[in-house]
Amino acid sequence: MHASSTPALELRGLTKRYDDGTLALDGLDLEVPAGSFFGLLGPNGAGKTTLISAVCNLIRITEGEALVFGQPSYCLEARRQIGISEQEPNLDRFLTVRETLVYHGGYYGMEKAEAEERAEQMMGVFDLRGKRDVRAPKLSGGMKRRLLLARALLHEPRLVILDEPTAGVDVELRHELWRYIRRLHEQGTTILLTTHYLEEAEALCEEIALIGRGEIVARDTAAGLKERYEADTLEQVYLKTVANHLFADDEAEPREPTETEGAEAV
Ligand code: ATP
Repeated sequence: MHASSTPALELRGLTKRYDDGTLALDGLDLEVPAGSFFGLLGPNGAGKTTLISAVCNLIRITEGEALVFGQPSYCLEARRQIGISEQEPNLDRFLTVRETLVYHGGYYGMEKAEAEERAEQMMGVFDLRGKRDVRAPKLSGGMKRRLLLARALLHEPRLVILDEPTAGVDVELRHELWRYIRRLHEQGTTILLTTHYLEEAEALCEEIALIGRGEIVARDTAAGLKERYEADTLEQVYLKTVANHLFADDEAEPREPTETEGAEAV
């Protein structure tokens, strides 16, 4: 494991305004240390997927910059360092499990033999060998999740981004996935996780950033957040900071001002 001083991710003034005028990211600043297990939590529509899409060069940034291990996110070198498992299973319906993995390796510049070998490994790790010749539409939801993760990890990225990887996954598979992700993290891989399961974030993440309306509202360890907001649980912190105002009037009173302005807005 080689924790380097260059952050895995540096976002400065990151702004995204979609064509219809929606401001999804509003001058957002965030640094994710190399080698960390980092959680990004926020309600529906807060901007998590937009942030991830900007980092992975899937959308054009309106303003600001995103650096991946010091390189602008749009350059090839940065893109090679990232593995992403997206929220929506976006598997090619015409490819088998094995082809999905081998083609992905090719896309990342691997020699065919190397990609084939790595695909075998990943199918073994994620228990997909029995489905090697099955096309994506014929996989169960859990198998699709495993394939997405296998694909994300195939090219051995240094930064793995998991956008709600356990949504709709059964308890057994969830534990299995987390065991694997934890091991990966222990080997030095940086993990950026979004999830709506707050207890999952608390158990796994060394640091958590709360995002609301396209801004980072607070960032700390789970214990640090609970202390700052005088909360017993991370859920209470969430409700006091970024929750979509459904219960905000009774709950939203951080005891101390945070160092970011976003907290005032909620
Ligand atoms: P969830 O937890 O529901 O996945 P999120 O935090 O990932 O939410 P985003 O998907 O990033 O939120 O959405 C942030 C805002 O940007 C929302 O208001 C959403 O409607 C808007 N948005 C997302 N994609 C587009 C798009 N392609 N065009 C216009 N607006 C968009």
